[in-house]
Amino acid sequence: MSVDLTGSFDLTGKVALVTGASQGLGARFAETLAASGAAVAVAARQVAKLEELAERIGAAGGTAHAVAMDVTDPASVEAAVENVEAALGPLDVLVNNAGIAVQKPFLEMSPEDYDQVLDTNLKGCFLVAQAAARQMKGSGGGSIINISSVLGTEVIGALSTYCASKGGLLQLNRAMALELSRYGIRVNAIAPGYIETPINSGFFKTEPGQKMVKTIPQRRLGQPDDLDGALLLLASDQGAYMTGSVVTVDGGFVLR
Ligand code: NAD
Repeated sequence: MSVDLTGSFDLTGKVALVTGASQGLGARFAETLAASGAAVAVAARQVAKLEELAERIGAAGGTAHAVAMDVTDPASVEAAVENVEAALGPLDVLVNNAGIAVQKPFLEMSPEDYDQVLDTNLKGCFLVAQAAARQMKGSGGGSIINISSVLGTEVIGALSTYCASKGGLLQLNRAMALELSRYGIRVNAIAPGYIETPINSGFFKTEPGQKMVKTIPQRRLGQPDDLDGALLLLASDQGAYMTGSVVTVDGGFVLR
């Protein structure tokens, strides 16, 4: 069931940055923020796909700006955040969405796999949040939204490094919320359950995938637009008294 929230949350005049926006949830987050009036910077490593997204947002009446950023590289993060300020103005909203998973049994997970996943999902969020928060501090505040996962608190097999990174992100979320409140910066997380995106839609069509869907209390996969409400609440002034929160959007997955 898709509910049109356009007009329910007003982000007019706000500048937002979404990392990992070239596909999947990040692209949806960018479109949703733009439809509510935010000027949105879309970031990922490859700009070609981002430029297509920015054009789509522009054609729908929104404002978007594509910027190259590798969240694992401090210099790239710094340059991208400065580029966004020059193009759109200081940041009001950051969605720390870029993330990867390596699926392997624990005994086969290599030190390189560990570094790749932790560098992207945890250190990447730290680097981008720090650069964004320095800007937000100077302009009176903002909202940082960290995309964790139900696997930040639950575990399933063959995703040990991913679970560790998303658990770490939940603690980073709380620590940042505590320290940044004094600057008017709110920091919250969304913990999605299984949401159908290009990266997993093939798996969920297979027999094991279908079996997994049956373990979700609502008996369906989430769709990217299921996250619209949580995103807009945390991004907008309607969420003004929320900081350090984790909003779980999972069809009941964690209740199993
Ligand atoms: P996806 O693979 O479709 O998108 C991930 C995005 O991150 C891509 O745009 C990719 O280019 C970008 N990215 C990866 N490494 C990067 C780097 N070093 N620098 C910049 N960008 C980089 O995945 P998705 O399903 O859209 O997931 C988005 C986020 O939501 C991830 O953090 C993921 O862990 C989280 N999440 C997804 C689900 C789900 O079921 N889809 C559930 C819970 C949490």
